[in-house]
Amino acid sequence: MNSMPKTFKVEKYHTDIVSKSTLFKALKYLDRKNIETPFLLMDREKVKEKASLIGQNIRNSKVFYAVKANPDIEVIKLADKLNMGFEIASEGELKLLSSIGVEPERIISSNPVKTFKFLKMAASYGVSYFAYDSEDEADKMARFLPGCHVYVRLTVPNEGSEWPLSKKFGVEIDKAAELLFYARNKGLDPVGVTFHVGSQCTNMYNWNSALDKAKALWDIAEEKGIKLSLLNIGGGYPIKYTKNVVDVGAIEKNIDKLIREKFPRDVKVIIEPGRAVVGDAGIFVTSVIGKANRGDDNWLHIDVGVFNGLMESVGGIKYSYIVETSRQARHKKKWTLVGPSCDSFDVIDKNVILPEPETGGLILILSGGAYTISYASEFNGFSIPKTILI
Ligand SMILES: *Cc1c(COP(=O)(O)O)cnc(C)c1O
Repeated sequence: MNSMPKTFKVEKYHTDIVSKSTLFKALKYLDRKNIETPFLLMDREKVKEKASLIGQNIRNSKVFYAVKANPDIEVIKLADKLNMGFEIASEGELKLLSSIGVEPERIISSNPVKTFKFLKMAASYGVSYFAYDSEDEADKMARFLPGCHVYVRLTVPNEGSEWPLSKKFGVEIDKAAELLFYARNKGLDPVGVTFHVGSQCTNMYNWNSALDKAKALWDIAEEKGIKLSLLNIGGGYPIKYTKNVVDVGAIEKNIDKLIREKFPRDVKVIIEPGRAVVGDAGIFVTSVIGKANRGDDNWLHIDVGVFNGLMESVGGIKYSYIVETSRQARHKKKWTLVGPSCDSFDVIDKNVILPEPETGGLILILSGGAYTISYASEFNGFSIPKTILI
């Protein structure tokens, strides 16, 4: 392997995307010899910083980290040490948390449709807060988790989020009200409402319409005799990938103002961030495995692709890259960036302007900490990158 000191073409643009301290820590890590790619570096300090920032501007709020964004055991241990709550969906995620002894009071599940196995396991572990959006799910919970606390999922506009979720889950206000009463009749404890504005939501006004709908439901429920106490505003806070985004502080100040205007003083607020906790703490370290000119295009093949880490690139997430270059080869070219597998679906990005790397050289992919490894498979025999906390 390459043991020469590595030089990277770092531009101001890059340090506008991830913080300098995260980047320099990663570059320092790469000074060592015998680096074997691919891997994901996760900056502990960044996760810590995000964990303390999120929720700070919303009164009476508690943060439950959405485990699916990055369930690496060391990341989970860090979140545990930071005393975060956890939002989970499955038996696998519950097993992970139980393996390090996270108390059931710090765990909720906002998956509206849960497996029988998960419901049983959650019951025996003592998890007691759950989302739902159907009578069928209320029936299931009444059977396995009698008396548990439930919150109904509303559908809300997802415009302006780069990873919309609204089409799968949630119901309209009238149906949601019916479901609250249905749950109560089944012996469950209907405590609140939830929604998800869509992941990587860069339009802070999405939360306005969502909170309007939640408020309308809140009032209908109260008129008819159910007093709600819990407002779960889901996830969706964005991070920087290729451009600036509205910051979490501004989003939360807006949300907090709206909550104070609309909801009772003592409303309990839950926030379920995933991407914003871990995304910009992660930097992928990948190698160029080959270059080719095919037709009019320059193809750049690297050892992480759509199947082993960069799945979100096919849904529209674009990343920023830093290339290891020799000093002579710093002129830029337009590349089609692809992963290592033989599947033509394995295209990460097209028309990426990058300096020409050498085959065997490194490419860093910024903001790679969320929804990457958790999506990865070993398709075609290419390994899932390991995660290293720095
Ligand atoms: C995925 C998910 C989240 C986290 O969303 P981010 O956009 O990563 O913040 C929160 N809540 C629920 C119910 C989810 O499914």
